[in-house]
Amino acid sequence: MPRHCATCSRTESEAKFYGDFCEFCMKDKIFNGLPEEIEIRTCKRCERIWTGTRFTAPTKKAVDEALHLRLKGYSIDVKEYNGDTVTVELGKDLKDGTITTEKSLKVLQDKVVCGDCYKRASGYWEACIQLRGGEARVAKTAERIEKYVGHTGAFITKSENAPNGIDIYVSDKKTVNEMVLYFHMKPITTYTLYGVKQGRRVYRNTYSIHL
Ligand SMILES: [Zn+2]
Ligand SMILES: [Zn+2]
Repeated sequence: MPRHCATCSRTESEAKFYGDFCEFCMKDKIFNGLPEEIEIRTCKRCERIWTGTRFTAPTKKAVDEALHLRLKGYSIDVKEYNGDTVTVELGKDLKDGTITTEKSLKVLQDKVVCGDCYKRASGYWEACIQLRGGEARVAKTAERIEKYVGHTGAFITKSENAPNGIDIYVSDKKTVNEMVLYFHMKPITTYTLYGVKQGRRVYRNTYSIHL
């Protein structure tokens, strides 16, 4: 006596079974309550998305993490994301195996300004690099610095011409500390008390570099 699905009466020869139900009815039961839309927090300036821990470029992995904030209880495999819609394969582990479905969700962008963009807009900086020397050397070094900083999470707030060189203001002093080591620069570093944040003294660093 072949087994029949408790809902649609399909037999085991017509479909895979999960418990008392065929795969079609099981899919309906599990995935029917899915939303048609999903909210993803997005920075309106840099278009990076919030993953729960950070803002980052919308790679497959990042979109995956962002979706996990909203879709609980499923495994998620992002197939396609274009900012307006996201196509995912959702899975649920059951006793008789994993059941999956593919779904396209409309993306609702919850638009915010991320911390980095906020800092950028407000002219935030922690490090000032003072390059001094011949014009060509200064220009070449400034270019290397711009390139280096561009590959990190930090940014250049502004560059100003100064007598005999250029002043480059950078958002993050840790990045600059790493950079001077990387380029074997030998700066004279001075520290200026900038303020007190959460009970800690905050210093801005000035790196004086003669080329
Ligand atoms: Zn069925
Ligand atoms: Zn941003």
